[in-house]
Amino acid sequence: MSVFGFDIPEEITAAADGVESFVRAEVLARHEKHADLLDNPRKLYDEDGRYSRFAQQQMREVRMASAKAGFYNISVPTSIGGAGMGLLAYYATIERIYHVCGARHWLCDYVISHWAFGPSPVLSQVTPEIRESVLPGMLDGSKSMCFGMSEPGAGSDAAMLKTRAVPDGNGWRISGRKIWTSNSPYADYIIVFAITDPERAAAKKGGISAFLVPTDAPGFQIDRIICMNGHIGGNEAECVFDEVRVEPHQLVGTLHEGFRIGLFGVSMGRIYNSARAVGISRWAIEKAIEHACTREAFGSKIAEYQGVSFPLARAATEIHAAHLLGINAAMLLDRGERAVKELSMAKAYSVQAGVRAVDAAIQTHGAMGFTNEVGLVEAYERVRRANVADGTNEILARTIAQRLFKGDLEL
Ligand SMILES: Cc1cc2nc3c(=O)[nH]c(=O)nc-3n(C[C@H](O)[C@H](O)[C@H](O)COP(=O)(O)OP(=O)(O)OC[C@H]3O[C@@H](n4cnc5c(N)ncnc54)[C@H](O)[C@@H]3O)c2cc1C
Repeated sequence: MSVFGFDIPEEITAAADGVESFVRAEVLARHEKHADLLDNPRKLYDEDGRYSRFAQQQMREVRMASAKAGFYNISVPTSIGGAGMGLLAYYATIERIYHVCGARHWLCDYVISHWAFGPSPVLSQVTPEIRESVLPGMLDGSKSMCFGMSEPGAGSDAAMLKTRAVPDGNGWRISGRKIWTSNSPYADYIIVFAITDPERAAAKKGGISAFLVPTDAPGFQIDRIICMNGHIGGNEAECVFDEVRVEPHQLVGTLHEGFRIGLFGVSMGRIYNSARAVGISRWAIEKAIEHACTREAFGSKIAEYQGVSFPLARAATEIHAAHLLGINAAMLLDRGERAVKELSMAKAYSVQAGVRAVDAAIQTHGAMGFTNEVGLVEAYERVRRANVADGTNEILARTIAQRLFKGDLEL
């Protein structure tokens, strides 16, 4: 039975069903088979904080198997070799993946090409040379990339970046430092944003360009892996560019207009995070319902107590609302609308409602909620981080307010 009063196209529901089968066969099965190597932090990470060689191989294998099965590039435009199913398909498949996996079975992150790590509409702006040399490996999942926008002094106000691309013959030399760059320790390429016209950049009128750089280029290095709370390794890192030479064919999009590419990528990230928050929350709420129906206290199942059931009812209501917001934003984007306000609302609301929902699920579990066994704290942490990534809640509120005060009052 559908909870929607409108139709989701059959091919999208079928894609989500297909992804679910794939995830059960390729992700859950791997985690079950290699639990000791994939879920034990002492074995998951090397000394320097990178994922072990084994884990990296599993990540690549999942990407490649998904590409082969036709899921990995589901929303990548057909013009660059993807299935071109659009953002509703992106939303629906990601939501389903996290609904099935929660946060524990982390290999599921590699099933659908994440806009920053793999092929996405962002790559439709690369030059013919890059299309030929880089795209095939990205599309088959054997290679991955990362997205270097944020810097130590430039986060929410990303245009404050200091990385420079200085003309050098017919190309440029890039110097600077990026931070929080997800997947950078494992990526084959980085899309880096650098100032190419300091005056325009200072006036916030362009002047920033995007370049695709192989991570084995001389002068590029991962300075340190950043360990997020409670982890002894990680996916984010600080990257240094020391006079890294780039050729004209490495420019992505138009010279001086790269910032738009960044914003476009971040829009995809907002759909991704909306969907992931809803999926993880549904997983957590279902876990909490199951626990409440079996755990007894004071002579009854705890589900009998409204102190337990009402927070879950509220969480379910909020997640249903978030689900509707996310689907609506994805549909608007697929229709070619910018949907700046609606997308901002969907992302901000989904990740905030997600935090409340997972928190309610933890509380329902009592002490058990904090154990590694149930994975709820991991889920909380993941959704909580999404309150910062791809536009913080405050920056999204700022965007929504700007739209409202410009007269966009359609709600
Ligand atoms: C898990 C994770 C992965 C990430 N991956 C990447 C990546 O792959 N590539 C990349 O480039 N970046 C990445 N980021 C960085 C992310 O884009 C930034 O963290 C984000 O833009 C916020 O910047 P900041 O952390 O510097 O916070 P700041 O900009 O320093 O903000 C600090 C606080 O001030 C608030 N604030 C700032 N300005 C305003 C304002 N005008 N009004 C109200 N409040 C304001 C913010 O909302 C926040 O609460 C990642 C971040 C996380 C958490």
